[in-house]
Amino acid sequence: MVSVTIDNITKRFDNVVALERVSLEVRKGEFFFLLGPSGCGKTTLLRILAGFYQPEGGRILFDGRDVTDVPPHKRNTGMVFQNYALWPHMTVWKNVEYGLSMRNVAPEERRHRVTQALEMVKMEGYVERSPNQLSGGQQQRVALARALVIEPDVVLMDEPLSNLDARLRLEMRQQLQELHQKLGVTMIYVTHDQREALAMGDRIAVMQMGRVAQVDHPRALYARPNNRFVADFIGEINLIGGEVTVADGEILSVSTSVGEIRGQASEDGLQKGDRVLCSMRPEALDFLRGEPSEGENVVSGQVRQVIYLGEVEQYIVELVDGTQVKMVEYDPMEQQAKVGDEVRLRFRPRRVVILPDEGRARAEAI
Ligand code: ATP
Repeated sequence: MVSVTIDNITKRFDNVVALERVSLEVRKGEFFFLLGPSGCGKTTLLRILAGFYQPEGGRILFDGRDVTDVPPHKRNTGMVFQNYALWPHMTVWKNVEYGLSMRNVAPEERRHRVTQALEMVKMEGYVERSPNQLSGGQQQRVALARALVIEPDVVLMDEPLSNLDARLRLEMRQQLQELHQKLGVTMIYVTHDQREALAMGDRIAVMQMGRVAQVDHPRALYARPNNRFVADFIGEINLIGGEVTVADGEILSVSTSVGEIRGQASEDGLQKGDRVLCSMRPEALDFLRGEPSEGENVVSGQVRQVIYLGEVEQYIVELVDGTQVKMVEYDPMEQQAKVGDEVRLRFRPRRVVILPDEGRARAEAI
């Protein structure tokens, strides 16, 4: 079990800056996620950790030891790729054994470790098969066994579940999590699927255009995103722009075109007069019925769309200024409103996060 320090890493491909001064601290035994949209640099960072790419600047440390110039086969990392990358001409057993043969592990010890690794991923019954006689999920379990059998200091995974169907993905998520808990090995996992990251990650680094946008525990990232990109990328979000009118405590007041909204600041230092975005999750909105029509965090609008999805019902409501917000009702025993209904929505100040409105400035800077 090792800690991994990513210290100020910069990587360029010709004119493209794939990573710009990225620093992250992955703790011993952590299940750490690199999450972001296509092209944000997450695979490049994983490849630098594995030693396949050399960065132009910065260092990689394993347990404080500088490995930036150490070649891949001497880093003791196990890799799992999206496309499994098993050797087609070798049996399951041989595929898993290969890394140990390369390391000159004695035959008796090899047998023991291959058996153990295959048991871990529940593939002990398939030792004589070749990869093309296995399903995608089975192949990925063999790839996992092959990564684990060398007893790596760090397991690096690049979208390992993205070739599997939805049901298998869920099953494998659970198995990966169990395996991580059992082995306690440091794992770094690249994905663009926020659900995967939320479901399995101890912590998640959200990446945007070669930089780290935010690092935190899943719950904190979802409930307290500290910028618009993260709020938007993780889950669904409603954003209402405005200007801070009162900023003398934990809860700020914001004047918006749909009324006064109160919420929690995403960061210290927001002041009266600042342009901000009030962000709220769809589940933080409720229909307000039969109660005073005015009050804090109450907005009016008209229902534009109702989508019934079984366990949830989604409503799109157009507010008085034309902004459309999404809300959801869980366990919808009955429909709460119809298309065309005039409704009032309410949300609690603690469920509103006030973000600095730096979206445009940030995009221009990049
Ligand atoms: P995806 O989810 O699509 O794999 P990613 O977040 O993993 O995306 P990277 O593959 O790390 O993104 O790519 C980051 C940036 O670097 C992209 O703009 C990409 O086009 C560029 N890039 C990556 N590899 C190379 C390469 N070998 N040569 C040139 N440019 C590259």
